[in-house]
Amino acid sequence: MSDCIFCRIASGAIPSEKILDNEHFFVIQDIHPKAPVHLLLIPYEHIPNLLDLEAKHAALLGKMLVASSQLAQKYDLSGFRTIINSGQSAGQEVFHLHFHLLANTGSAQKKLPGF
Ligand code: AMP
Ligand code: ZN
Repeated sequence: MSDCIFCRIASGAIPSEKILDNEHFFVIQDIHPKAPVHLLLIPYEHIPNLLDLEAKHAALLGKMLVASSQLAQKYDLSGFRTIINSGQSAGQEVFHLHFHLLANTGSAQKKLPGF
């Protein structure tokens, strides 16, 4: 979708530093971080939010959850929060499904690009 900012990042129309990338999803840093580590896990498929999820998406979401564990290991996170906002009334601003991964642990900052 050309008017979706995450589709534009996915296609490369908006340049980004993808810290993890595969055929299903990619990971970038949030442009307005709410914690020392604030990553966004974003599927390539334009799914507006969890309200639009279908059974065929189960494997994709499973892979994204496994990736959040791998990211925690990669960046030495001792813990993290995962947030998925679904719907305007829940505070969703970008209507392309994404997982927020937030952490306060320090060592990750040194390894993330841009920090
Ligand atoms: P949500 O409220 O769950 O829809 O969160 C959308 C998130 O996307 C916010 O935390 C924004 O800071 C973030 N965001 C918006 N545009 C960009 C962008 N171009 N690159 C990285 N993060 C973005
Ligand atoms: Zn999109």
